[in-house]
Amino acid sequence: MFEIPQKIEYIIEKLTQNGYKAYIVGGSVRDILLGKVPQDFDVTTSATPNEVISLFEHTVPTGIKHGTVTVVTDNTPVEVTTFRTENGYADFRRPDNVEFVSDIKEDLSRRDFTINAMAYNHQDSLIDCFGGKDDLKNKVLRTVGDPGTRFKEDALRILRLFRFASTLGFTIEENTLTAALEYSHLLENVSRERIFAELKKTVTGENFEVFSDLIICGGLEFLNIKKIPNFEKIKKHKNNPLICLYLSIDSKCLDQLKPSNSEREFFNAFDKLSLLNAPKTKADIKEMLNISSPEYTLAFFEYKEWDTKDLKQILQNHEPYKISHLDIDGKTLISLGFKGKEIGEILERLRKIVVNEPQKNKKEILINEIP
Ligand code: ATP
Ligand code: MG
Repeated sequence: MFEIPQKIEYIIEKLTQNGYKAYIVGGSVRDILLGKVPQDFDVTTSATPNEVISLFEHTVPTGIKHGTVTVVTDNTPVEVTTFRTENGYADFRRPDNVEFVSDIKEDLSRRDFTINAMAYNHQDSLIDCFGGKDDLKNKVLRTVGDPGTRFKEDALRILRLFRFASTLGFTIEENTLTAALEYSHLLENVSRERIFAELKKTVTGENFEVFSDLIICGGLEFLNIKKIPNFEKIKKHKNNPLICLYLSIDSKCLDQLKPSNSEREFFNAFDKLSLLNAPKTKADIKEMLNISSPEYTLAFFEYKEWDTKDLKQILQNHEPYKISHLDIDGKTLISLGFKGKEIGEILERLRKIVVNEPQKNKKEILINEIP
């Protein structure tokens, strides 16, 4: 049942042969038990970072202070983290101290939810100290230990909770939910980038409705997120997280969440396209293409659930809609004696003509159209 890729097996075996304990842990164990193929495997070990470094040929000290060394085998990077406990959390987000320990149970106890707090290797089989396997079977999310304490330590766990509830379709155990809502004001301490990354995963989940609780209790008011999204509509766009986000959160709020440049461009294009009336003619569609791009216009049609037939035809036939598509350019106009501002104005006027009559996009015809 527990199929572990060869490269991961190799790391675990090598650590074990040298007298250390080593397991796959966290999300990978959860996913295997759910019958899914894990995206990546994390390894946890009793060996200290320096011991890990000395055992493997190619390592990168990615997070030595926190116990993480990346072991590279056959070009595949694998994070190997020393068993550790954490304490401090003065900033409601990151531990002030980590301490390396020799017992896997202690390491599992610092993890967020019971379903994420299991470890496995072939020798010891499943290590499940907090009832994670039962919670997986019953589809329940529950913190390891007292939920209030765990959310106060690190408020990001509150968002992870709603993310897993949404993507896995699990229910949230009562005390865990009560504490998550009670401490949701601490989300203000989480970096905007982390909030954005979690929201992006949450909005495409099957059970995104669970998110309402967090909005209703005012947990996201500091980001001005107050409206309950239209879940029915969002469900239709699961393949495009950016559309889901645009449907869920006001674009001014999205901007505060520090999206990447390309994500920001996407939201800006949608804002601009939203200002136009719904297109009635092909010429109207070409005006949309002119102010954004084929990619964003197609996504916007998808978002609006409009028929894309005419749009696709324009693109397939390479019908002109931009000044750069004209069969005439500024240089030609200069050679005809035009100057300065009037060049731009003429080109824009000619663009308008070919938008309506593409067949007129020929130099001789366009020259004749110049007033
Ligand atoms: P996925 O990778 O599918 O998003 P994951 O559970 O693997 O989910 P990671 O961020 O890869 O999430 O973290 C790996 C493991 O580290 C988790 O399964 C959990 O055991 C632990 N973990 C991650 N973030 C936290 C946190 N904020 N508090 C406590 N434990 C955490
Ligand atoms: Mg993971």
